[in-house]
Amino acid sequence: MQNASFDSKLQRTMPSSNCRITRRAMLIGAAQAGIAASVSSRYTSCLASEPSASLCDYPVWDMHGHLSSPGNTPEEKMDNLLKFADRMGIERVIVFMGYPWAYDPSPDEVRRQNDQVLQAVEHSRGRAFGFVYLNPKHTEESLDELDRCVRDGPMVGIKLWVAIRCHEKCLDPIVRRATQLKAPVLQHTWYKITGNLPGESTATDLAELARRHPKASFIAAHSGGDWERGIRAIRSTLNVTAEICGGDPTAGFVEMAVRELGAERVMYGSDFAGRSFASQLAKVLGANVPENAKRLILAGNIKRMLAPIFAEKRIPL
Ligand SMILES: [Zn+2]
Repeated sequence: MQNASFDSKLQRTMPSSNCRITRRAMLIGAAQAGIAASVSSRYTSCLASEPSASLCDYPVWDMHGHLSSPGNTPEEKMDNLLKFADRMGIERVIVFMGYPWAYDPSPDEVRRQNDQVLQAVEHSRGRAFGFVYLNPKHTEESLDELDRCVRDGPMVGIKLWVAIRCHEKCLDPIVRRATQLKAPVLQHTWYKITGNLPGESTATDLAELARRHPKASFIAAHSGGDWERGIRAIRSTLNVTAEICGGDPTAGFVEMAVRELGAERVMYGSDFAGRSFASQLAKVLGANVPENAKRLILAGNIKRMLAPIFAEKRIPL
């Protein structure tokens, strides 16, 4: 939750030019998905003539992002990321993978990128959390890196990308260790009509992995891209949550996910900086779903999923 010290810091660091940027950003989002009423009350002094409903009614945790903001160091990138997040009233962000990206990184490269994320997270003073990036092709090294960054470090989950399809058996020891550590596993999923990368997983692959590990928590990043197919693929696998980041803010995506999975299995992320906060928030704020579903999607579900590992690490929620 937003605390008083952060709120007052935000007020102090929010010059009038930022208020104008906030207004513009929010109006772009509103135009895209009918969220004209969704403006944070902390900006009401700048926006007295705007409609009254408030983004502040929905605490927002963005659960999918990268160190792709402007900046030459992880610290500079985090500063810019949080500056942009503040404009949209986003309280917390989850980041993974460093830079430059690599489809099939060596164990050394994985460690280097995780070190960048550790630096950025440390610099965020509690606003950002990290998921450890792993290449499961290197199973033993992945277990060591999982221990280094999650068991013995501050990270709180796992990010898997496109090195190897996630239904392969080499994922099993990693998921077993993740389950012991109470760390959720976020897997990129996509169905490309032009053909996936050789190691790129579909939501169907993830459902197969998740059925082998019923006690683990999985997140289907992008809901398979082709979300109508992705939502169906994970529907009967109850330990998989659909995450809506990336792609255009298409009407009907969040509505179908809530209808088919229940609001408890749908999660907001943006994929910043590849996608704007506004376009991705619009998917939720403009959706024709109950208010309580929006609260769960924007923060409630990720907080509930992370509660066990936060408790273990004594991180306040
Ligand atoms: Zn991403």
